[in-house]
Amino acid sequence: MKPRFFRIFIIYLFLMFLTISADMDESIKTPGYREYGSAGDIDGTTIVVSIFANDANTGWDDPGDEVKEANINNYINIAASYIEDNVSAYGKSAAFITDFKKNDDLKYRFVTDEKLTDNDYIDNGDPDSLVWEYIASNIDETSLMEKYDADNVIYMLFVDSNEDNTAISCTRTWYDDMPYDSEIVYLFNYDDGYVNGPAVYAHEMLHTFGAPDLYTADSNYNIDDDFVDFAYENMPNDIMLTCSDEVTGDYLYDSVNNEIGEVTAYYVGLTDHSDIVDKWNLYSSEHPVRR
Ligand SMILES: [Zn+2]
Repeated sequence: MKPRFFRIFIIYLFLMFLTISADMDESIKTPGYREYGSAGDIDGTTIVVSIFANDANTGWDDPGDEVKEANINNYINIAASYIEDNVSAYGKSAAFITDFKKNDDLKYRFVTDEKLTDNDYIDNGDPDSLVWEYIASNIDETSLMEKYDADNVIYMLFVDSNEDNTAISCTRTWYDDMPYDSEIVYLFNYDDGYVNGPAVYAHEMLHTFGAPDLYTADSNYNIDDDFVDFAYENMPNDIMLTCSDEVTGDYLYDSVNNEIGEVTAYYVGLTDHSDIVDKWNLYSSEHPVRR
């Protein structure tokens, strides 16, 4: 009697837990929640929503910051044109709407007491919930998508960092059972010794559509150190491997001259197949199964 009762009780508890956690998941998902994240198919119209963040140590209210904001607007536009051109070379069509000077509903201000320029804080994904919740309560994504007839949304959060910054620009991409579907790019104006140029913006935007880094191992794609060596040998100018000019090693600020090669094209859904991905047993892109 007793053991059986215990087992039923455990099953009851388990079912109760499942019900509660399912309810919790539902309650925090944004309206119009998309199963594959806010940036899905690059073949379509994408709006880039720019969020300027003031944190514990940095802000966008100093003299000269307007010039930096204008530069950022320009860099996103260059990055978007670069992606549009490369997508059309694969016979598909991408249109990006990014200009927050022309469209003031694409620009927002986020304020936090946290230190966004702290490498551990960013690396652990600690700001994600804060930013997701900010987006859910302050940005009317559904109306924006209707107004711009958009299929995708990328959120870019800009931090006015300087040489004290220890964090590196990075992207929170969609993954299974994320509480919110917003794909967030954390873009530091200054990191790793340089002001970031348009190639970095394009690199991060491509992450939101599924592209992996090619310069470092990543178990989510089965990319190991041997594959990284192969990538450096065979695709040294791929934008997911480098954002610098191939010849000089410097960032460009008026154009992007890195490539969207076979592997990157496959993972952002521009092709259905890659011999290199097959040969190296990298994991399948999510794009073909989405269609
Ligand atoms: Zn990256």
